[in-house]
Amino acid sequence: MKYISTRGQAPALTFEEAMLTGLARDGGLYVPETIPQMSATDIAALAGLSYEETAFRVMRPFIGDSFTDDEFRDIIARAYAGFGHAARAPLVQLAPGHFLLELFHGPTLAFKDFAMQLIGQLFEVALKRRGERVTIVGATSGDTGSAAIEAFRGLDAVDVFILFPHGRVSEVQRRQMTTPADANVHALALDGDFDDCQARLKDMFNDFAFRDGVRLAGVNSINFARVLAQVVYYFSSAVSLGAPGRKVSFTVPTGNFGDIFAGYIAKRMGLPIDRLVVATNQNDILHRCLTGQGYFKGETIPSISPSMDIQVSSNFERALFYAYGQDGNAVAQLMDELSTGGFNVSQGAMEALRESFSSGRASEEETLATIAATLKSSGELLCPHSAVGVKVAEETRDTSVPMITLATAHPAKFPDAVEKASGLRPPLPPRMADLYDRPERVCRIDNDLVAIETHIKGQITA
Ligand SMILES: *Cc1c(COP(=O)(O)O)cnc(C)c1O
Repeated sequence: MKYISTRGQAPALTFEEAMLTGLARDGGLYVPETIPQMSATDIAALAGLSYEETAFRVMRPFIGDSFTDDEFRDIIARAYAGFGHAARAPLVQLAPGHFLLELFHGPTLAFKDFAMQLIGQLFEVALKRRGERVTIVGATSGDTGSAAIEAFRGLDAVDVFILFPHGRVSEVQRRQMTTPADANVHALALDGDFDDCQARLKDMFNDFAFRDGVRLAGVNSINFARVLAQVVYYFSSAVSLGAPGRKVSFTVPTGNFGDIFAGYIAKRMGLPIDRLVVATNQNDILHRCLTGQGYFKGETIPSISPSMDIQVSSNFERALFYAYGQDGNAVAQLMDELSTGGFNVSQGAMEALRESFSSGRASEEETLATIAATLKSSGELLCPHSAVGVKVAEETRDTSVPMITLATAHPAKFPDAVEKASGLRPPLPPRMADLYDRPERVCRIDNDLVAIETHIKGQITA
């Protein structure tokens, strides 16, 4: 199994190489050269299996020779052992034909734990075998950073540094980054906004002396291993609603297009998915694009669903690659146009996208109203991201096909918005109820490349 770049100019890599590399050298994103297939019999055989065994069977064909079966089973077992629910990704019913896939039972209460916990264990095994260490640096608006720190804390082969915008993440998100005591994880509060964090991260990757000196690696959502981990719960949930005998649709609260792209991979593998519905907040570049208005950047407007406040969805490049018939040159040209504002999608590619994807958007008021209405009708308290999904799902769904909306975070991660909408302040689950009492460890840092690089070089353990 080889991985190729969406821009067609980088060398093909194994799964392990693509995972450790992240971004391809031509600026593209790695995708599998061919998408493995699961037959209706293979899919039917998933019924009743544990989440871990389903994960093994769905992901195994993508791994090639990078890990043995025993190694891979152990990795999966360790990745999900810290989840607070035996089903890992339980499905609850909201209304006739409408289900909620709860992806917030991991250690940091957002779906990013599914991928990050797995990638932490994959990195550790691969790097120990190679006798190598890496330094992972990430930029976060909140959820990615806490998931990464939780996944890599205490591991031997990695140091992790997370840049977050000082004063602009929720208190729960901040505490999840600053309270782990392990020496190899570091939270850096940057004097700037999220765009500054991302810009400094990019500067570090472009500073080749620094990049090679500290062996810089990335775990942002363009890493294919993260996408792969998310494919699993599309299978587990669809099978529990009757796949492969019955079609299902999914609505996915979307920012960087990583989570919903995993659904596209599941569909291409053979899972009978009818519609994949992209749900956006007021930052709706994807909804505009999928309704034929082109892909043009605007201003990011802060919202109550901050993990979806994004203008450029990095993983959308992967969907474009398939929509353009796997033509790397066409994708490279679109990405050039994007750097100066945006592009229009060709008619053929638009038709290909519409075969799988639909879209909708929710305003701030609609999001708050959906939290209140869903609590009243079903007793479920939604986080604002999940509420965007539920609103769009209700508006777009075909009642003859079961709809599964992904609940991407626990309401206690965004208590202010949830309280404003519902009057209820959601408590943290008991296993992390002392989060507000644990001591914090954080380094406040200038928005300055040299200062950040000097700090990192001084802190790494080997
Ligand atoms: C990251 C995140 C999203 C968006 O997921 P993408 O894969 O970036 O589309 C949605 N909701 C929550 C809570 C998140 O943390």
